[in-house]
Amino acid sequence: MTFDVAIIGAGPGGYVAAIKASQNGKRVCLIERNYLGGSCLNVGCIPTKTLLSNAGVVTKIKHAADYGIATGPMTFDYGKMKLRKDGVIEKIRKSLEGLILSNKITILRGSAEFLSPKEIKIKGQDNTIILADQAIIATGSEPLDIPAFPCDHQRILNSTSILELTELPKTLAIIGGGYIGCEFASLFAELGVKVTLLEALPMIVQAQGKGISEALTRAFVKQGIDVQTGVFVETIEKTNHGLHVKLKDKPGISCDMALVAVGRRIVTDHLGLDKAGVKVGERGMILVNEKMETNVPGIYAIGDVTGKFMLAHVASHQGIIAASNVIGQEATMHYNAVPAVIFTLPEIASVGMTLEQALAAGYPATAGKFPFMALGKSIASMETEGFAEVVTDKKTKQILGAQVVGYEASALIAEMTLAIANELTVDCLADTIHAHPTVAEAWLEAALIANETPIHFPPKLKK
Ligand SMILES: Cc1cc2nc3c(=O)[nH]c(=O)nc-3n(C[C@H](O)[C@H](O)[C@H](O)COP(=O)(O)OP(=O)(O)OC[C@H]3O[C@@H](n4cnc5c(N)ncnc54)[C@H](O)[C@@H]3O)c2cc1C
Repeated sequence: MTFDVAIIGAGPGGYVAAIKASQNGKRVCLIERNYLGGSCLNVGCIPTKTLLSNAGVVTKIKHAADYGIATGPMTFDYGKMKLRKDGVIEKIRKSLEGLILSNKITILRGSAEFLSPKEIKIKGQDNTIILADQAIIATGSEPLDIPAFPCDHQRILNSTSILELTELPKTLAIIGGGYIGCEFASLFAELGVKVTLLEALPMIVQAQGKGISEALTRAFVKQGIDVQTGVFVETIEKTNHGLHVKLKDKPGISCDMALVAVGRRIVTDHLGLDKAGVKVGERGMILVNEKMETNVPGIYAIGDVTGKFMLAHVASHQGIIAASNVIGQEATMHYNAVPAVIFTLPEIASVGMTLEQALAAGYPATAGKFPFMALGKSIASMETEGFAEVVTDKKTKQILGAQVVGYEASALIAEMTLAIANELTVDCLADTIHAHPTVAEAWLEAALIANETPIHFPPKLKK
């Protein structure tokens, strides 16, 4: 079999690139050894957000009395929640397969391995060798295992095996306070599990900056999560009753189960990169230029395997860029407006630079921060936790970054992503009519505060 393009891995990077290339007249094959949709659909974004939406309903019911609604005692069946999660994945998987086939893409099922830059062997359900003029590697990542406390997937779990639980533990230690650890902490705490979150760094979600980390820590503590930062897990021992997590220079923690969420491992093993001549960098990341091309002309790499941001929407966008170059439309990748969302309670979202990052980068930066407790829609819906903050350049007025903590932060960040991607100024934001009453008005108010012309917030006291 011969193809114009072979794409290895059908996650959000690979299948999007396949559709783009095929729609532009290329003969495309998409090679997948596991399920279509990759980590994102099967063990990442979609299952976690499905379970988190269950937790959201539980939270609403817990607060029903505040809205004047009597519900009686609340019970739930976690096994049924898990089944709903499986059903959601199955449904999307089926429609994804239909979408891929409707784009006249050949799906080959099995593990791909380069035999040379243009020759790929497939082993599995399909056993064949194909020839392709160009290739896109989108083989993604997997949970990282730590040799000192390897996962047994019974009590010591990773982000994949924890999704298979049908019953909740009473107590759970989560090792790793990055976004994956924090989302699981939020989910299980909301469902009544006693969660201890252990992070080696001085703060959780450190990459999001101090303001967001502090806001999330406060919310977690209020939720009953025991947040311990600056702690080093030495090992996890099995006991008669469960587990004992041993900490360096600190008393350990006894728990029913532990979740190891300490990062992701790049998947390139058995891919034959050496036979294709493709160079890798630290942690096995495939090195690419801004066109997503590797050191071998005609071989591209996208998504988690490039080690950049490791988010589904980044993988998809890189897929579009790589496929554009494959079809001869020159395109380059930019990372200045990458939105990142953490689906905790409250949600957290950011794009561009924090105020600290902008100042450190030498911008004459300022920020306007508006609390949701001052917003009509937030008060009406009893969702007053958190804030929206806009970071701007005082001189040029360009919007440099935005952060939001609170209800619907995941949807709110889209407006600021559009603004930053299109280099809009804070005046563009302040001059845009925002519908009332909506939570998006927080951006307008934050822009007015950054301009020192607040309307629904007291003016700064003049010295
Ligand atoms: C718990 C969790 C929650 C997450 N939540 C979010 C979120 O809310 N938002 C977000 O943006 N991101 C989230 N992510 C990250 C997101 O899932 C990844 O960034 C995204 O899936 C990367 O896409 P990809 O296409 O690069 O690779 P993947 O989705 O990992 O897909 C790679 C595919 O390649 C296949 N493959 C590998 N090697 C071979 C081979 N040799 N031959 C054939 N096939 C092969 C694999 O089977 C896999 O299907 C989450 C991740 C996890 C683990």
